[in-house]
Amino acid sequence: MQEMPMQDTLPKEYDHKAVEQKWRSKTDGSVYQFDWESDKPQYIIDTPPPYPTGNLHIGNSLNWCYIDFVARYKRMRGYNVMFPQGWDCHGLPTEVKVEETHGITRHQIPRSEFRDLCKELTLKNIRKMKDTMKGLGFSIDWNCEYVTMDPTYYSMTQKSFVRMYADGRIYQREGPVNWCPRCGTAIAFAEVEYEDRETYLNYLYFGAGDCGDDGNGSQNLEIATTRPELLPACVAVAVHPDDKRFTRFVGGTISVPLFNYDVPVIADEEVDPAFGTGVVMICTFGDKQDVRWWIEHNLPLRMAIDRDGIMTSVAGNYKGMNLADCRKAILSDLESAGMLYKQEPLEQSVGACWRCGTPIEILSEKQWYVKVDQDEILSTADEIDWVPSHMLIRLENWTKSMEWDWCISRQRLFATPIPVWYCKGCGKIVVAKEDWLPLDPTEANPPEPCECGSEDFEAEADVLDTWMDSSLSAMAVSGWVFGHELKVPTQLRPQGHDIIRTWAFYTILRTHALTGKRPWDAILINGMVFGEDGHKMSKSLENIIAPEEVTDQYGADAFRQWAAIGGSTGSDIMFRWKDVVAASRFQQKMWSIIRFSLPHTEGVGDIGDIDKDSLTTIDQWIISKLNSLILDATDAMENYQFDITLKMIRSFAWDILADHYIELVKHRLYGEPSPNQQAARQTLGLIIDSLARLLAPITPFFSEEVYSQLNKTGSVHAALWPTADESMIDSGIEQEGGRIRDIAWAIRRYKSEHGMALNAPLDGIKIYADVIFDCSDIAGAANTPVQVIAGTPDFEHRAVGVKPDMKVLGPIFRKDAGKIVKALSDMDPNVVAQEVQSGTIRIAVGSETLEVPADSVAIEREVVLGGRAVDVIEVGGAVVVITR
Ligand SMILES: [Zn+2]
Ligand SMILES: [Zn+2]
Repeated sequence: MQEMPMQDTLPKEYDHKAVEQKWRSKTDGSVYQFDWESDKPQYIIDTPPPYPTGNLHIGNSLNWCYIDFVARYKRMRGYNVMFPQGWDCHGLPTEVKVEETHGITRHQIPRSEFRDLCKELTLKNIRKMKDTMKGLGFSIDWNCEYVTMDPTYYSMTQKSFVRMYADGRIYQREGPVNWCPRCGTAIAFAEVEYEDRETYLNYLYFGAGDCGDDGNGSQNLEIATTRPELLPACVAVAVHPDDKRFTRFVGGTISVPLFNYDVPVIADEEVDPAFGTGVVMICTFGDKQDVRWWIEHNLPLRMAIDRDGIMTSVAGNYKGMNLADCRKAILSDLESAGMLYKQEPLEQSVGACWRCGTPIEILSEKQWYVKVDQDEILSTADEIDWVPSHMLIRLENWTKSMEWDWCISRQRLFATPIPVWYCKGCGKIVVAKEDWLPLDPTEANPPEPCECGSEDFEAEADVLDTWMDSSLSAMAVSGWVFGHELKVPTQLRPQGHDIIRTWAFYTILRTHALTGKRPWDAILINGMVFGEDGHKMSKSLENIIAPEEVTDQYGADAFRQWAAIGGSTGSDIMFRWKDVVAASRFQQKMWSIIRFSLPHTEGVGDIGDIDKDSLTTIDQWIISKLNSLILDATDAMENYQFDITLKMIRSFAWDILADHYIELVKHRLYGEPSPNQQAARQTLGLIIDSLARLLAPITPFFSEEVYSQLNKTGSVHAALWPTADESMIDSGIEQEGGRIRDIAWAIRRYKSEHGMALNAPLDGIKIYADVIFDCSDIAGAANTPVQVIAGTPDFEHRAVGVKPDMKVLGPIFRKDAGKIVKALSDMDPNVVAQEVQSGTIRIAVGSETLEVPADSVAIEREVVLGGRAVDVIEVGGAVVVITR
């Protein structure tokens, strides 16, 4: 192959470490800044504020890659893009970590001191996660950073509380609420996770107090329950109204075993006669159904369990026991009393705290709530473009299943304080005024006395659910937290499907409640990342991959390519090292292409300068393909199909550009200066520049390096996304170019099969086709004169050899066979061929003429055209005739 003298060329190997380091330190971030005054259309991304655990895990990283692909693409499309970064700081995990680290409990030190320790830990963790984000090349606008534990942020949370309270959307009430005894706080339904657990169904006698006889006159009822520890909380017994077995009990009372107090027997359609014994005990509260019955039948309240999961005085002798001990004791006492007559195992779905896995209890407590208006949420959700679209159904199903309002008060510390006091004079609730915010009611009294004149207040010690902070994110980034006029709706919310019922649901609820608008135009849902073993990543499976492990070895761009190509958006995707390796190979391949191209594309100017008349068919072919690629890639990016975008770019660069186009035009690039050479140089320049820009959202470091090597001014990330010149898309040219490509490829293969150098000249090539076409690049690539002829060749087939078949000759001629073979080989093969035509071959051996059957030889022929032997390849409907 011809070699160009190397001029100031790039290193042979792409050095991702050096390149990424270079652009990380060179980029000042100004390209990524959101301009509050811009005339450009806005594109605000309501990015997730992660919980500052200190680790930006691979699932986060996938989501952030998606966000960054969109942000970079939209900037190149001329949008004023905001890629903010928030930190959702408040919450239990930090409190627990602080307790562990310092060996204290939150009750042992003053509230403010405990909060300071939480803040310190949070800041440390934020710094670590920011490093990972910067390493992965996310184009975050760090001027648009927010931290929910900062007063600027939580004063907004408090303001939203004040406004929604004034609107009647927030209220306080005493009543049943989900409670985690371990965390010691109320939680919302969205935080209850249902898990199947193995438990026992215990069959008990209710009634007279001794083992009942089974005769008709029995006053006993048999009841099956999974929660015997709730016997002291039993307030009624229910049966189905149509269940004839129990009709005579309805309206009467029955005695609760061990506790010996009477409860009413009621009839209710919701009782399943087929479950257990067909009789259920209603407790305050075993589950949601108990709450429904309790309200419907106006039953009394018997709270047998306290906030810490300990039995109360309602439980009599069992007071002070924890739930597990109490259950054991009650079962054993029932058994001794002969009132437990059967136990069977049962698989049951149990509601558990999503943070610690402890089964939740339903307690009656005074808590704060946000009203859930299902219709308002459903209609707002419907105005949003859900990607993928089936994710809307999850939100709808969740919304429709909401029976209770959103409990927003928490009995914790590290969170936004509820800006409320209770007047000790008149008992009135005093909610802070907006201009008093931010505040912590436990640290200061209201600046003015109560309406009743009293200045004696009790502070609300409860704090707000952290979702009260993060569900304001769309409003926060679109202006509220940065002191600008609100720009809702924002354009995009990217998030995981695991938090549709929380973050997405609450953001829709609150943004609409506070602004009357939808929070976003579109929501893009990312899937989860699974390990190479196909399982969800977990410590116990040891299949966790940290993004840094990947970037240390292969660089951020390779990691980002995996994120793009690993799967379609919305689906769960697997982390595969082979995807990363393939990404790295692609970068090297692209690098080699660029390295080859640079010396030729220097100073070629813009595509606008291309003299279209000088373009050969193969130039037009690749320009047409490039414009199709731009159209398709744009379409895929608009639809968040990053995998499709990258696959198309790779296939273009690898198959079309490297394997074919470059091979076909090398002869022009290395040849004498000519308009055709200039056309090849400009075409190549156009392609490299377009590829650098098409790849920029996915491989920002690599693209920036290439773009700078092209001597372009400014950053590729400030450049425009390529636009397709549709006038250059021509299916006829693509077909013709495809034929040229196939023929050139076939000639290369022919040469390599014949052990020839690829640039070794042949004597001549004639191509017979239906039409005459531009064969200049085939001739150049083959280093051989080429003639295109319309029509089909008029071949002769000439016999060039005779191969005797001993299997036929042997049995007939025995010892004479050798002589015959010798004679055959002495004959002119054309004469033998003529004899074969006649059916028998007559051979002169000595003085005799022997007759040999025609099938005893095979004739070797060659194709002859115009009197010369040629080789023939049929490709793409053309006949390629090669003279060696
Ligand atoms: Zn918990
Ligand atoms: Zn008062």
